[in-house]
Amino acid sequence: MKKLLALLLSLILVFSFTACGDNSGDAKNETNSAVTAVTHNGWYTEGDITITKDQVDEIINQKYTTPKNVIVIIGDGMGPNDITLAEENVKGVYDFGLVLNRIKNHGLATTHSADAEITDSAASGTALATGSKTNNGYIGKDVNGNDLKNMAEIARENGKKIGIITDEDLPGATPTAFTVHNISRDNRKELANDMVKFKPDVLMCKDYMGVFALLDADTQKIFNDEYLVAKDFKRYKDVLNTDKENKKPFFGFLDGYSPVATYNLAHCAEVAFERLENDKGFFLLVESAGTDKFGHDNNMNGKLQSVVTLDRTVAAALKFMKDNPDTLLLITSDHETGGVKLPEGDNYKLNELLTQNSHTDTPVRVFAVGKGSEYFKDKTVDNTDIGKFLINAIEGE
Ligand SMILES: [Zn+2]
Repeated sequence: MKKLLALLLSLILVFSFTACGDNSGDAKNETNSAVTAVTHNGWYTEGDITITKDQVDEIINQKYTTPKNVIVIIGDGMGPNDITLAEENVKGVYDFGLVLNRIKNHGLATTHSADAEITDSAASGTALATGSKTNNGYIGKDVNGNDLKNMAEIARENGKKIGIITDEDLPGATPTAFTVHNISRDNRKELANDMVKFKPDVLMCKDYMGVFALLDADTQKIFNDEYLVAKDFKRYKDVLNTDKENKKPFFGFLDGYSPVATYNLAHCAEVAFERLENDKGFFLLVESAGTDKFGHDNNMNGKLQSVVTLDRTVAAALKFMKDNPDTLLLITSDHETGGVKLPEGDNYKLNELLTQNSHTDTPVRVFAVGKGSEYFKDKTVDNTDIGKFLINAIEGE
């Protein structure tokens, strides 16, 4: 009988899949239930992150206390003009526009590395994660090759849980710079093994095979024996239900960044909030990688859709903060990608706004909500200042 019921239920789920148009913002009114819906080409989502303009403003303006939880959201390669253009060109989740743009404490950050005017994600990730400049290509190491203490390590020292989420590969420069150390971002096998061995309480990245194939035998054993693993986003709920006591670290895989805006990253963040919440707090890093990847690929629409994917994650974070005012939220980028210019007049093709397919030295935007976030208001800081600010918060100072 139980089996029959389960079968019936899964049939209902299958037939409830929602197909929609070329902008998943259209799914707004259709996917509000908790039903798993396929939006586009296998990008999974589980309904909206519902929030109104008034609720957003209320949460942003509420009284915040000393942060126990620190949430950092990074749009890799997300330049200031990506955000401006996304606000104007892409139907976001909400009719009032981007959630991001309602945050009042915002400024700019310079991104140069120790050895170059134009940084890569390794050096800028290290600057954000440790508060120190380093050379391009270095992960969590100073210019002399010594380990720099990173945010995940400091959080662990302070008894906090750790969550690392990226919609790109696990050994990517951004997630690894916040967690491990290596003299080169190209040592992907070492980086992947070190990430798994570090055992964040929540770890999520693009694809299962891309990780497992890189692991040495002893790391595979850790992965198999010690982690709770959900090989794709559809299985998260079932897998999490097998460990309701929250005893094991959770390793989940999602479909990666997408050419259309999705709720995947936002829902991953929601799962993380649930798993990470505890008396001592947590540090959570979320990377939305599409703003960089589509910049390299000369795909402006993909870049703007990725801003919306990030924005939905910001909405999810704010909803968590409504009942958790002891939380600090910071959103920034590691660098600009694509030399995106703003259009002159109305007659333009989106891709023409991308002036190059590499990184630039354009300062990026930084947004913050929570105690002390006025620090960034209408100022230009350096990315190392962001790192120092966040480390202070994690250390409770
Ligand atoms: Zn890049």
